[in-house]
Amino acid sequence: METVSFVQFSRRLSTMGVTLRREHLETLQVNLGKVCNQTCTHCHVGAGPNRTEAMSLETVDHVLDFLADSAARTLDITGGAPELNPHFRYLVEAARKLNRKVMVRTNLTVIFEQGQGFLPGFFRENKVELVASLPCYEAENVDSQRGRGVFEKSIQALKKLNEQGYGDHPELILNLAYNPPGTALPGPQAELEADYRKELEERHGIVFNRLFTLANMPIARFADFLGRNGETDSYMCRLAEAFNPATLANLMCTRLVSVDHQGFLYDCDFNQMLRMRIGGARPLHIKDANDADVLNRRVQVMDHCYGCTAGAGSSCGGALV
Ligand code: SF4
Ligand code: SF4
Repeated sequence: METVSFVQFSRRLSTMGVTLRREHLETLQVNLGKVCNQTCTHCHVGAGPNRTEAMSLETVDHVLDFLADSAARTLDITGGAPELNPHFRYLVEAARKLNRKVMVRTNLTVIFEQGQGFLPGFFRENKVELVASLPCYEAENVDSQRGRGVFEKSIQALKKLNEQGYGDHPELILNLAYNPPGTALPGPQAELEADYRKELEERHGIVFNRLFTLANMPIARFADFLGRNGETDSYMCRLAEAFNPATLANLMCTRLVSVDHQGFLYDCDFNQMLRMRIGGARPLHIKDANDADVLNRRVQVMDHCYGCTAGAGSSCGGALV
């Protein structure tokens, strides 16, 4: 896109003389597929109950082979609702045996799906670090983004996790993920975290470790939402105007590599959704790759990258500066 004030992200970087490269690998992020029990309006994956894409056991084994030889100390598992992949337990347990930290991005409500009640105890036994979506402490705001009744179920799930010790034990980390309603940009993370801590504790007796603030990415279902409302250009300009060069040093693509349910590699989960494979026309598959194949490569950027670099920045771990 190009408007009077809009500068393409790649051009912005080149005028600054900046090239993004992955100089070391800390995290392997695995997307187990698009199956989810929810259909949130802001979903950058386009996940839902009717999706069928799911990583096979063969590809899970390729992921584990890569991890065994990799310097990456963290396996970050996402989806969809990754817990609904039939090989989820196997992947978590095998990665723990490889002595890796395992993070799971959970929507919380999945633990009330049929056959998933084991999850809180399983997470505790494997010391899985959780990043749980909760875009507000008000029911109305959560339900309007994530579906009717999601807030109440999320609160019940958080209580179950607290009962397991999550949020109140050094090895049982429970972080929450916030994304703003509509086209707003996230407010200051520390202030919002303090509000969440007060409201969740006072109203529900819930404790947690950190709150991560994430901007809505102009991808998949949120891109459709912007298009339907005629807000694509104004949102992109808002992100571009808020561009903060200080975020560049901490972008997750400079230390993470992402793998899709078929085993192809990407610079991040967002590039994955846009099918911007590492290797382009000769895409790199995890079964053929090792750390050397993904290090010191130029990261592929496009205008959605303004979503990571606006304001205080945004990443899987929240604000960047
Ligand atoms: S945002 Fe998360 S919980 Fe919501 S539909 Fe997408 S993957 Fe599922
Ligand atoms: S979307 Fe964000 S993490 Fe992905 S390549 Fe762009 S700046 Fe990096």
